[in-house]
Amino acid sequence: MTQAPARLDELEKRVAALEARAKGGAVDACPLCGGEMKVVSVMPHPTFGTFGIQQHSLACQSCTHSEKRKVDPNKS
Ligand SMILES: [Zn+2]
Repeated sequence: MTQAPARLDELEKRVAALEARAKGGAVDACPLCGGEMKVVSVMPHPTFGTFGIQQHSLACQSCTHSEKRKVDPNKS
Protein backbone atom coordinates (compact mmCIF):
# COMPACT_ATOMS: atom_id res chain seq x y z
CA MET A 1 0.00 0.00 0.00
CA THR A 2 2.49 2.60 -1.12
CA GLN A 3 -0.31 4.97 -2.16
CA ALA A 4 -1.90 5.19 1.28
CA PRO A 5 0.19 8.04 2.76
CA ALA A 6 -0.46 10.34 -0.22
CA ARG A 7 -4.16 9.63 -0.09
CA LEU A 8 -4.28 10.23 3.64
CA ASP A 9 -2.47 13.51 3.17
CA GLU A 10 -5.02 14.56 0.57
CA LEU A 11 -7.89 13.53 2.84
CA GLU A 12 -6.43 15.45 5.74
CA LYS A 13 -6.24 18.59 3.65
CA ARG A 14 -9.83 18.12 2.55
CA VAL A 15 -11.02 17.61 6.13
CA ALA A 16 -9.10 20.68 7.28
CA ALA A 17 -10.76 22.75 4.57
CA LEU A 18 -14.18 21.44 5.56
CA GLU A 19 -13.52 22.15 9.21
CA ALA A 20 -12.45 25.70 8.42
CA ARG A 21 -15.69 26.18 6.50
CA ALA A 22 -17.79 24.61 9.25
CA LYS A 23 -16.40 27.10 11.74
CA GLY A 24 -18.12 29.79 9.72
CA GLY A 25 -15.04 31.85 9.09
CA ALA A 26 -14.96 34.41 6.32
CA VAL A 27 -11.80 32.80 5.03
CA ASP A 28 -12.37 30.74 1.92
CA ALA A 29 -10.05 29.15 -0.59
CA CYS A 30 -9.91 30.41 -4.16
CA PRO A 31 -11.13 27.72 -6.59
CA LEU A 32 -8.51 28.80 -9.13
CA CYS A 33 -5.30 29.18 -7.16
CA GLY A 34 -6.20 28.09 -3.62
CA GLY A 35 -5.42 31.55 -2.30
CA GLU A 36 -7.28 33.25 0.48
CA MET A 37 -10.64 34.76 -0.44
CA LYS A 38 -11.60 37.83 1.54
CA VAL A 39 -14.94 39.59 1.81
CA VAL A 40 -14.50 43.00 0.18
CA SER A 41 -18.09 44.23 0.27
CA VAL A 42 -21.39 43.38 1.90
CA MET A 43 -24.67 44.64 0.47
CA PRO A 44 -28.33 43.65 0.47
CA HIS A 45 -28.95 40.83 -1.99
CA PRO A 46 -30.53 42.21 -5.22
CA THR A 47 -33.33 39.63 -5.10
CA PHE A 48 -33.61 38.55 -1.49
CA GLY A 49 -32.42 41.74 0.21
CA THR A 50 -35.92 42.45 1.47
CA PHE A 51 -35.72 39.23 3.47
CA GLY A 52 -32.52 40.33 5.13
CA ILE A 53 -30.31 38.29 2.81
CA GLN A 54 -26.92 39.79 2.05
CA GLN A 55 -24.66 39.52 -0.95
CA HIS A 56 -21.00 39.21 -0.09
CA SER A 57 -18.35 39.97 -2.68
CA LEU A 58 -15.16 38.01 -2.18
CA ALA A 59 -11.81 38.67 -3.81
CA CYS A 60 -8.81 36.38 -3.98
CA GLN A 61 -5.69 37.81 -2.37
CA SER A 62 -3.39 35.90 -4.73
CA CYS A 63 -5.01 36.28 -8.16
CA THR A 64 -7.76 38.39 -9.75
CA HIS A 65 -10.56 35.90 -9.13
CA SER A 66 -13.65 37.22 -7.39
CA GLU A 67 -17.07 35.86 -6.67
CA LYS A 68 -20.37 36.80 -5.10
CA ARG A 69 -22.11 34.80 -2.43
CA LYS A 70 -25.61 34.81 -1.00
CA VAL A 71 -25.43 34.97 2.79
CA ASP A 72 -28.25 34.66 5.28
CA PRO A 73 -27.06 36.42 8.46
CA ASN A 74 -29.98 34.92 10.37
CA LYS A 75 -28.53 31.46 9.96
CA SER A 76 -25.63 30.69 12.24
ZN1 LIG B 1 -6.99 32.96 -6.64
